[in-house]
Amino acid sequence: MEKVVIIGTGCAGLTAALYTARANLTPLVFTGTLPGGLLTTTSIVENYPGFPDGIDGYELMTRMQKQAERFGARVKFATLEAADLSKQPFVLTVDGEPVETQTLIIASGASHRHLDLESESLLERKGVTYCATCDGALPMFRNQPLVVVGGGDSACEEATYLTRFGSVVFLVHRRDTLRASKIMADRTLSNPKVKPIWNSVVTEILDVKQDKVTGVRLKNLKNDAEQVLDCAGVFVAIGHVPNTQLFKGAIDMDENGYIIPKRGSETNVTGVFVAGDCSDHVYRQAVTAAGLGCAAAIDAERHLAKLNQ
Ligand code: NAP
Repeated sequence: MEKVVIIGTGCAGLTAALYTARANLTPLVFTGTLPGGLLTTTSIVENYPGFPDGIDGYELMTRMQKQAERFGARVKFATLEAADLSKQPFVLTVDGEPVETQTLIIASGASHRHLDLESESLLERKGVTYCATCDGALPMFRNQPLVVVGGGDSACEEATYLTRFGSVVFLVHRRDTLRASKIMADRTLSNPKVKPIWNSVVTEILDVKQDKVTGVRLKNLKNDAEQVLDCAGVFVAIGHVPNTQLFKGAIDMDENGYIIPKRGSETNVTGVFVAGDCSDHVYRQAVTAAGLGCAAAIDAERHLAKLNQ
């Protein structure tokens, strides 16, 4: 039986792994489908303390994993399929195999929110993407007009990054001010290749018949005017949804699926702890996720110490 199982290898999961490993609990850590979490899909991370020149997101996560493994964490590329948290020990199903554990740290993060348009899903990977760092350099986007949807830090980051490849980057936002931090907003809007389109939403991505992105249909929310904007790519950056569906009904969560901790990192189920973006819809930073991962590890360690007294 495991002492600690950690779900997720983003900043929260790997920091929890580091701390529980250093407490000699040899945690078993499951990556899910995106090892390293969302930060592996970002380019340069400029606000993680300790890296004055910034650090590549993928490299940061690779280093975190190595650091946790150095102290005995076992990181496995596997996905949680079910969790029976109704009795101790908890029984997880991971890639078809049962895993028993005394404690569980849920650090499953969040995934990209979609626009929920039919044309969006039909054209995914045919010009519609959720990750500029992953896809921006593809030949199909080179020297072409591109569209980024959203008004937060992610949208700004994507738009600025895409100016390296696209002829022009239209930033389509549903309001007339960006939600992004001031430094990111200023940097983005002062880039001559970024053209903001305010108060507008994408109502359709064209052209499903041609099986590739050729443009977007936009609606101005102030005056209902419609326009079609030619583009070769649509980069959707409108926030995230927490990866908590598997725990619905067992773990307390809000109406958007964010897990609600009871005290510190403790959930409503004794022995189950939570950390990072699957429970935090306020701060959502790499460094806060890491801090919450540390807290969950300490809480799990103290719980085990009491259990095994
Ligand atoms: P976010 O801050 O939640 O912003 C989402 C944006 O998408 C908002 O502007 C929102 O509009 C818009 N939006 C939401 N649903 C929409 C819909 N259905 N249709 C059209 N627009 C929609 O998400 P984020 O930009 O991904 O950032 C998430 C967190 O990560 C934030 O805390 C951010 O600071 C952090 N982050 C930091 C960095 C960095 O510091 N380098 C980089 C990336 C992300 P409204 O503004 O009208 O709500």
